[in-house]
Amino acid sequence: MQVVKTVDEIRKMVKSWRKEGLSVGLVPTMGFLHEGHKSLILRAAAENDRVVVSDFVNPTQFGPGEDLESYPRDINRDAALCEEAGASVIFNPEPSEMYAPDFSTYVNMENLSKGLCGKTRPIHFRGVCTVVSKLFNIVSPDRAYFGQKDAQQLAIIRRMVRDLNIDIEIVGCPIIRESDGLAKSSRNTYLNPEERQAALCLSRAVKLGEKMAAEGEKDADRIVSEMISLIQAEPLAKIDYVEAVNGVTIEPVHKIEGTVLVAMAVYIGKTRLIDNFIIE
Ligand code: AMP
Repeated sequence: MQVVKTVDEIRKMVKSWRKEGLSVGLVPTMGFLHEGHKSLILRAAAENDRVVVSDFVNPTQFGPGEDLESYPRDINRDAALCEEAGASVIFNPEPSEMYAPDFSTYVNMENLSKGLCGKTRPIHFRGVCTVVSKLFNIVSPDRAYFGQKDAQQLAIIRRMVRDLNIDIEIVGCPIIRESDGLAKSSRNTYLNPEERQAALCLSRAVKLGEKMAAEGEKDADRIVSEMISLIQAEPLAKIDYVEAVNGVTIEPVHKIEGTVLVAMAVYIGKTRLIDNFIIE
């Protein structure tokens, strides 16, 4: 698997593919890849002639005191997974390649970034929108692939692409879970065995909420409060938020109508994990 470190080189590569009339898919990631990322790459490989996987721990989306330095990295392992999943190349720039010392232009999606994760991570989505815009400009893909695992991020990217007339199809992909239900995440590696067990309260809460909705519960607040009770029964869990919002606008809802996103962020020890489900 070829690993490209510079903007110039990846641009040249994509240009040569374009000359041959080939289509290009982009899978933006922060690396330390797992089956969740792999599902995005497999889908991109099925729908495009060439696939670029970006593997970049983006400093602008981490706030002070967050896990930028300790975020797990393993480019050799990532390369093997990309090869297996049918990627064409990994774009793995150094932060200095992406951000000049006097970098000062940001993309900020105003409304959808304020709630849910935006409350505790106020600069996070500005960093995400900025780096994703840069990757879109560098790679110019036909399609870009994002996981429903980061549901707010996906909604924000869709809105950004609409608002800024970016001519790239955004493809959302379902959440991939461990066999016991825990949503796959690079951050799961932070969990010790006891925390790993405790982390199951997130997926159990998702299952409970899904079951209530499937049985016809229309009161979003009741679904949320049952989920909160379930999570609170786990001594190692500390809730950041559990909320029901409109799946497109990310505005709070109290009734189940239209597309509702029920999303949560929960600390298990020091590790902040997210999970969600959609009620159509
Ligand atoms: P990350 O490396 O965590 O920034 O994630 C890169 C992409 O993979 C994002 O679009 C995520 O939503 C997606 N992703 C991460 N975990 C999962 C998962 N368990 N299932 C599906 N997609 C995922």
